[in-house]
Amino acid sequence: IDLAKIERLTGKDRDELDEISRQGEKVIVKVGGQKKEFTANQVLFDHCLACELPTPQEYDILLGEPRPPAPNMEASGKNIAGLKGIPSAERWQSWQNELSRCIRCYACRNVCPACFCQRCFVEETEPQWVMPMPRWQDNLIFQIVRNIHVAGRCTDCGECERVCPVNIPLRSLTREMYDIVGELFKFKSGMDKEALPLMTHYEQEEAEDFFR
Ligand code: SF4
Ligand code: SF4
Ligand code: SF4
Repeated sequence: IDLAKIERLTGKDRDELDEISRQGEKVIVKVGGQKKEFTANQVLFDHCLACELPTPQEYDILLGEPRPPAPNMEASGKNIAGLKGIPSAERWQSWQNELSRCIRCYACRNVCPACFCQRCFVEETEPQWVMPMPRWQDNLIFQIVRNIHVAGRCTDCGECERVCPVNIPLRSLTREMYDIVGELFKFKSGMDKEALPLMTHYEQEEAEDFFR
């Protein structure tokens, strides 16, 4: 359940919610002595709405019954489609506003299963890729470079957006990259454990020298 969505729908802070329960496809929220009902599509995380593997491919113990995949790509991609639908100057302004709120806590990077470097590029001082002060320009560079680094490894788990304390819509960047990787390379990270990682192997016959 995406508490940020419930906050928007109820107009209440998550600390004010008394109880959240699920009855079939309905989600019941008790707040201020009132009971409000929502559909799962209204309150699930966007990345959960896009889930292609509700039953894991491998498991030791499966809790509950196996479920067939039923991704709702339209609902899942609503925010991204909204952003893509606005003129580029407005989109630029929107990202500037969003990234101005980033406090550079690095929670998005620390939670990410694809970000496991011993020393992240943001900690480098020679050269210094980003300044430590969370200016929006440096925050933008951090997110763009991180997004490129995790291309082909990001599984659209949505954790980076979920943990962001200031609710920056990071999945709008990471899911877009996930789709671009899928489109260009017909590759989805995390789907096949036998598949070689996309960006870490190359063929001797690669046309571009920089690969070798
Ligand atoms: S989690 Fe949010 S606030 Fe923290 S560094 Fe990432 S984008 Fe910035
Ligand atoms: S959605 Fe992608 S970038 Fe974000 S935490 Fe998951 S794997 Fe990392
Ligand atoms: S942002 Fe890049 S350098 Fe930093 S931990 Fe993630 S993959 Fe590594």
